[in-house]
Parts: sequence; structure tokens; C-alpha cells
Amino acid sequence: MKNCKIKEETKMSEVLNVEEIFGSKVFTLGKMRERLPKSVYKEVKKIIDHGGELSLATADVVAKAMKDWAVENGATHYTHWFQPLTGITAEKHDAFVTHPDESGKMIMEFSGKELIKGEPDASSFPSGGLRATFEARGYTAWDITSPAFLKEDATGVILCIPTAFCSYKGEALDKKTPLLRSMEAVSTQALRIVRLFGNTGATKVVASVGPEQEYFLVDRDKYLKREDLIFAGRTLFGAPAPKGQELEDHYFGTIRERIGSFMKDLNIELWKLGVTAKTQHNEVAPAQHELAPIYETANIAVDHNQLVMETMKKVAGRHGMTCLLHEKPFAGVNGSGKHNNWSISTDTGVNLLSPGETPYENAQFLLFLCAVIKAVDDYQDLLRLSVATAGNDHRLGANEAPPAVVSMFLGDELNGVLEAIEKDIPYEGAEKTQMKLGVDVLPKFNRDTTDRNRTSPFAFTGNKFEFRMVGSRDSISACNVVLNTITAEVFKEVCDRLEKASDFELAVHDLIKEYATDHQKIVFNGNGYAPEWEKEAKRRGLPILPSMVDAIPALTTEKAVKLFESFDVFSRAELESRAEIKYEIYSKAINIEAKTMIDMATKQIIPAVIRYTTVLGESINTVKTAGEGLIDVSVQLDLLKKASKLLKAANSAMSKLSKLVEKIPEYEEGRDRAVFCREKVVPAMEALREPVDELEMIVDKEMWPMPSYGDLVFEV
Ligand code: ADP
Ligand code: MG
Repeated sequence: MKNCKIKEETKMSEVLNVEEIFGSKVFTLGKMRERLPKSVYKEVKKIIDHGGELSLATADVVAKAMKDWAVENGATHYTHWFQPLTGITAEKHDAFVTHPDESGKMIMEFSGKELIKGEPDASSFPSGGLRATFEARGYTAWDITSPAFLKEDATGVILCIPTAFCSYKGEALDKKTPLLRSMEAVSTQALRIVRLFGNTGATKVVASVGPEQEYFLVDRDKYLKREDLIFAGRTLFGAPAPKGQELEDHYFGTIRERIGSFMKDLNIELWKLGVTAKTQHNEVAPAQHELAPIYETANIAVDHNQLVMETMKKVAGRHGMTCLLHEKPFAGVNGSGKHNNWSISTDTGVNLLSPGETPYENAQFLLFLCAVIKAVDDYQDLLRLSVATAGNDHRLGANEAPPAVVSMFLGDELNGVLEAIEKDIPYEGAEKTQMKLGVDVLPKFNRDTTDRNRTSPFAFTGNKFEFRMVGSRDSISACNVVLNTITAEVFKEVCDRLEKASDFELAVHDLIKEYATDHQKIVFNGNGYAPEWEKEAKRRGLPILPSMVDAIPALTTEKAVKLFESFDVFSRAELESRAEIKYEIYSKAINIEAKTMIDMATKQIIPAVIRYTTVLGESINTVKTAGEGLIDVSVQLDLLKKASKLLKAANSAMSKLSKLVEKIPEYEEGRDRAVFCREKVVPAMEALREPVDELEMIVDKEMWPMPSYGDLVFEV
């Protein structure tokens, strides 16, 4: 007994050497430096920093070193890991196996060609018409800036090479290609501004991203009893539990043992993959949690966020749980999002969104800040579109998530500063020193980290912007593509004007003033959850786009086409194909949900209610007989009437929904079908849910065919 205890304690205090395990499954720069000849390493480093293409001879050397390292670590296969438009990552494994030699011995090989380029048969990935099926070839190309890593699971150890995925003609079929293009665009334009302010040392500007990932954990056995969670990722039925999140006792609460041990394993797995998992805590809703890594270069952050989501699912399974990444797994309970923290900085380490020490730096900061304000105002519809998913429709606008209208929060201090500039009055802020810049005053102020508005979709938080509309399940690629490109566009305008100005300082001042004045309407510092805000937003003329279907047209407006084409981020054809795919994805999601509801209602819920009413009926008769008609059975009778009435309502709602679902294929794939789903099918789903949820509140719990909300979120 005593021994046993000591053993436990040793186990608890097992030392974790984080420094040793961090990046152990990544072919890091450090490992390349160790394993590659100096000249090869230099070439690779140069391409990582400044772009370009690896020569085949160099690629061969890198491939061999990479393979040797992978094989030493147990790898048998490699894969070009990519992010098609399905929303998840894709991989096709190839063994390092080659033809055996005469003696029958096989030597594991991996060539430079195999490293830098792959040709997966891509006909089953969505292309939105970009690639006819007869031209099924697509190719993957190594993104040398994102390090290769080892994935280890039941399949064995696989060397994963992060790649971009294009059609044979070079059209982007994935989420990475446009991201890399947009990073280039924002770098080029921001660098021009930086140069104008006298910085000659910087050679590029890097967009950095830190995504905070929210998720739910539920017990796996219970999860398996809910078809809706299995097929749709969210509950399609479910009455509220007696207790919700009103006590706010979960947020930042003590982490329970089961969850804690999940988090510990998750961290270890992520650290091994080089993901800087940093912060973890319980979120607002019961069973909801969050993980935030340290920010990094946008494309790596996107790759890592995919790994975070994948690892969460894998590790949850090992702990007998399922990780729900859906944006709204439970109605009436907080949904999950992803706060996309975004900033831009020079490769010399200057964060361009950080107020500086000197008036000159502050002028540069204000200029960048106002340019971002203008970009967000000019392209609200694209930002909204970048987070549009069928699942996020349930979250945006619910009273815990940002509304489906984009607005920006700047904080009191910055607001004051901008107001002063707008009105040409001295700024009377916390710090009163004013410094001259040119003819007018641009105030000095401190970084404002105190007041934070949690309800704003787009908040300035001291030295970065935090875009909070992204759904928890979504890739963060799309929103960063939009952020990078729309800011590049405004930065370009800034440079075009400043480069021509005869008085630079005056021109800077005028631009700041112009942007701050003209784009006031996007700035909103009040409560974004308040119903009055929607009215106010309407008054200001801000687009309110409640559903994904409303948001998609933004992608192909002339304005959007011009924007994306001018920075070579998307061609018109690519945009059109993406819009097409989005409509398809939406219709498919709704179709699956509706069919799941019908299945659950037909095979589980209605039979259960019939059983319940039968038992009630029998009990009424039994009691009546036993009591020789003298016992009051009105309570049972009322219940029976109520249940039967709701049963009838549910049944009729179900046949309506079934008829609508049958009609879906009659509508042409694309917008027509999506609109039909949104306007007809979704309301019919809601109409079915209503009586069913009411039934759940009265039917004997023992007879209800699936775990309740209470079982799912309070008993993990
Ligand atoms: P919160 O929003 O919960 O207060 P933090 O301020 O800790 O959280 O930051 C949240 C995320 O923002 C983290 O992933 C962090 O690394 C990231 N972050 C911090 N600074 C920057 C920056 N300059 N650019 C991009 N992301 C950043
Ligand atoms: Mg945050």
C-alpha cells in the first residue's frame, strides 16, 4: 500500500524537459545547419529569408539529409502535406522504398525532386471548375519557409513536408498559395512606407499571427451516442440544461484532472512539433477551453494552427474524450472562435503597429494604424466573407460572439489622439507632451493596454489587431489573406502619395487626418453585443451579413477582383472558383445536417416519444383501474396530451423538412442551391428542433434516446 503511494508520487513529479522535447520532431534550421554542407545550408537560409528557388542539386542534398533524419527517428514514409479547400489538411503517404538491388536489398531513398514537387491525383479535391476532371493533375510545391516535421500515430512515423497545392496551370487550389502571395504583397508595400521614414536596414516586412484556439471536450462514449455530433459536429437537437454558464464559474476556473491531463499531453505533442503552446485555460462555457501559442510568421502560424486542431482531436481520443471544434456545438451555450492576432513588423524587429518612442516613430505608427482602419472600412465585406462558414452563422451575432457586422475598437487613448488630429486640437490625453511634426502636432502617447473591449470584432490591443470573428474550426488562412491584401492596397496608396509629396511631414499628417476622418464609421467602441448596435450599424451604412450565403458575393465584386488581381493574390478565375466552392460547401453542410435531423427524429426521437406516450397511457389505465375510477389521473392525462401534441408537431415538421431536402438537388449547384438551403431548409430545421426540444423537457430521461446537454457539458 505504502509503496504504491510512493510510486504515484514519483509519477506525478516526473520531470519534463521542455527544452529537449521542443521541436524534436521538426527538421529545424538548427538541424539543417548541423546536417547540411555549409554552402547548401546558406542557400537554403537565403531562400527562406528572401525567396527564390532551390536548385535541383541543392534539393537533392537537402532531401537526403531530411530523409536520414526522418529515418533515424523512425519514419518510413513521407508526404506532401497541403491544405486543399476542403478545410482540413491532406496527405498522401509514399514510402521511402525503392527498387531492391540484385541482391534483394532495398535502400531507402528520397530525392530532391520528390522533396520540392509532388503530383497527387487531385481530381477529388474541390476546384470550383478550375480543373476539369480530365486534367486531374495538380502539383504540390514545398513551402521552404515552413519546416518539415514528423507525424507519429498508428500509421507509423511520417515525414510531412508543408506544401502549396496548385493546378497544372498554376492556379491555386489551396489555402496556402494565396497566403504566401498576400504576405509578399503586404511586405512590399509596407517596406515602401518604412523606407520613406528613413529605415534602410529592413529588407522585408513580416505579417505575424497568434491564433487563440477555443474548443470543447466531451466524453467520447456520450459523443458516440449522438448522431448529430458525429455527422454534423454540433448538436441539432437539445434542450438547455438547468444550469448554463450564468454563474460564470467555469471561465479561468480550476482545470479538472481529466482535462488537465489532456492539456498536459496536448502541450507535449505540440511542443515536439515546434508549436509554442503557451496559454491554456477554461473558457466561458462549461466544457470549453482555450489554447494560445506564441505568435509567429503568418504561414507558419496557419500550418501550426492546423496541427493544433488535429492534435487536439488525436489527444482527446487517447483520453476517452472527443474534441469539438465546431463554432457552435450547443445552442444557447457560448460558441467557439479563434482570435486572430495580427501584426506586421520589419525583419529588423520593429513592430509597425507599436507606438514608438519618438514623434517620428509615432507618426509612422499612426499612419499604419489609420491605413489599417481605412483598409478594414473599405473591405468590411471581404473580412466578413473570410470568416463565413455554415457553422459560424450560428455563432456570429449570438450574444457572446462578435456580431455579423465588422467594426473596430481602438481604445480611449487612441480615439482621443485621432479625434485631436481630426479637429486640429492639441491632444489632452494621459501624456500631455506634444511634439511637433511638421506644421502640426502629432501627440506622443503610451501604448494602451488597459482598456479592452471583448465585444469588438476587430480590436486594436496595444501592438496588434485582434480579429475575433474567425470560427474555431476554420483555417486562419483566409482571414490573413484578406488582412494582408487589403492593408497592402492602402499602404500602396499611402506610398504613391507620399513619394510624390513635396513636404513629406505635412503629407503624413494630412493622410492621417484624412483617413481618421473619412473612416470614422468603422470605429465603434461601445458594446458590440447590444441590440442597439445593429441599429446604429445600419444607420452608419455598415453591411450586416448574417449568413455565409449573404457574405459570399463579396468575393467576386469588381472591387474585390481588382484588389486581388492587382497584387497577384487571386485571379478572377480563382475567385470565382472559390465562391463556387463556398456555395457548395454551404449546401452540403446544410444537407448533411437536415438529413441527420431526419434520421434522428425518425429512428430515435419519435419512437422514444411513442414509447413514452404508450407507457403514460398504460399507466393511466392501470391507475384508473386500480383506483376503481376514484383516483385523479389528470396530471398524467395532461402530460399525455402535451406529449402527443408535440409529437404531432414534430412529425409534421419532419415531413416538411424531408420534402425540402428531397428538393435540394433540383436547384442548380452553386448559389441557387445555397440560397434554397439558407432560406427554406434552415428554417425547416429550426421548426423541427423546437417541438423536439420541448419534448426532451417532459419525456422521462430514462427514455430519451441520447445524452442531454447537461450530460455532455457538465459531466466530462
Ligand atoms: P488575450 O487576447 O487573451 O489578452 P494575449 O495578449 O496574451 O491574449 O495574446 C493573445 C495572442 O496574441 C497570443 O497568441 C500572442 O502570442 C499573440 N500576440 C502577441 N503579440 C502579438 C503580435 N505583436 N502580433 C501577433 N500576435 C501577437
Ligand atoms: Mg484574445
